[in-house]
Amino acid sequence: MSALLWLRRDFRLHDNPALSEAVRLGVKQALFIATPSQWQQHDMAPIKVDLIRRHLELMAGELSQYGIELVILSATDFRDQVRVLCDYCRDHGVNLLLANSEPELDEQERDKQVMAAGSDLRLWQNDTILPPGSVLNQQGEMFKVFTPFKKAWLKCVAAKGIECVPTPAKSVCDAQAVPQVTQQENTNSLTSIDLDFPLVDSSRWPDSEQVMSQLLPHFWENKLLDYGERRDFPAIKGTSGLSPYLAIGAISPRWLALQLVQRHPEVIYDTQHDAFSWLNELIWRDFYKHLLFHYPELIKGRSFQPKYESLPWPNNQAHLQAWCEGRTGYPIVDAAMKQLRRTGWMHNRLRMIVASFLTKHLLVDWHKGERFFMQQLIDGDFSANNGGWQWAASTGCDAQPYFRIFNPITQSQKFDPNGDFIRKYLPELSEVPDKQIHFPHDYLASQGKAEIYPAPIVDHKAARQRALAFYKVE
Ligand code: FAD
Repeated sequence: MSALLWLRRDFRLHDNPALSEAVRLGVKQALFIATPSQWQQHDMAPIKVDLIRRHLELMAGELSQYGIELVILSATDFRDQVRVLCDYCRDHGVNLLLANSEPELDEQERDKQVMAAGSDLRLWQNDTILPPGSVLNQQGEMFKVFTPFKKAWLKCVAAKGIECVPTPAKSVCDAQAVPQVTQQENTNSLTSIDLDFPLVDSSRWPDSEQVMSQLLPHFWENKLLDYGERRDFPAIKGTSGLSPYLAIGAISPRWLALQLVQRHPEVIYDTQHDAFSWLNELIWRDFYKHLLFHYPELIKGRSFQPKYESLPWPNNQAHLQAWCEGRTGYPIVDAAMKQLRRTGWMHNRLRMIVASFLTKHLLVDWHKGERFFMQQLIDGDFSANNGGWQWAASTGCDAQPYFRIFNPITQSQKFDPNGDFIRKYLPELSEVPDKQIHFPHDYLASQGKAEIYPAPIVDHKAARQRALAFYKVE
């Protein structure tokens, strides 16, 4: 039997069941097939592709320590990927494929096609802490809101624990003798992996090895227990910054949860525990992934709540453009959008504020915001992004009805009280006093400087009334 490890979204050695099986079977080759057209169709951000490229280089070096050579091929889209994969298997006498599953619809469809073409494809679940489909209500159905899901999730973990696959022991073979990476027909040096996709430099984000050895221990020791108090303030680095690595499978959510529970076993029973707030976010991640498993039509753009399926969004193009470019005249919104465009990441509190602003204040269809986020985010992840957008637009799983409309001025006063975050991304407002920075227009006018910052594109009170009327569908 000749087996092949097929890497897809699992660039890690720890808690990687397909890799462990490959090492056990003495597999000699791993394959990654770039699909630039498919990535384009899925709006994958160039900065995320660059992070993948860097982790492929890292994996190539790591795999060679197991006597496994990484081969990189290219296909246009998933359909072509099936052809490239099957050709490769035929040419190299491969009759067993080992891979970790990907929950999204196109990915599942592709795997079905690979199997239909006669390949023995074995899949393991490693993208969530608890397997999708395993957390259900008493009727055996998926929960439609988060809190009861969380309770059931904690019960499952209390009953069954969390299990990870151990990192396989390095082989005794001479790693030097194994070429680390082969791309198409040419053996290339490690720095030359070409994914045939426009890239944006991701180097401000360290690679996962450094995150696991330095940043994560720092987070456990110094930030975890204050997370609940600090997580909402964008001027503070109070969150873990792990989302890019979770999104590409470079760090395992299951492994993170296990580490947390080993450090603080009480978190499973005590939701008031200081370490619980962070676990809560990992459960949110699982929640949206489980939701996608149960409602695969979400990926086709469906509203989770059918009554909001055909809302007549006005979709003012100039407003959308101003939002994308950070020119709305609301400093917290504009600073957040500048953070997104400049760094490929945005703080969670700000994601909620800008998503609410686009959908409720500007009445622009949430799909447009969802798409723009995916095109920019280094941590772009369909389920979390879709879940976050539908939550903000009130078409999704928010237990609160549509009249939750964030006020961008009071949100700013509460979560960026001194305007430190605003000043970082809008230096033109650096001289504005703290009190006025959240809505600086009168102050700027009084200084004869109104022209340095855009006037608000909508009036908050009027926009709120308009949104309430717009959403009032039976
Ligand atoms: P931490 O606060 O340290 O949390 C730890 C991990 O938990 C995160 O890395 C993430 O994997 C997960 N997590 C945290 N909050 C959420 C949440 N609300 N929903 C699901 N998972 C969560 N997250 C993405 O990973 N990719 C996205 O494309 C994405 N799009 C979003 C769009 C909107 C409109 C909103 C409101 C939220 C979105 N989120 C997304 C969730 C959240 O904003 C990010 O996960 C978080 O900001 C990442 O920062 P962190 O790694 O420091 O998180």
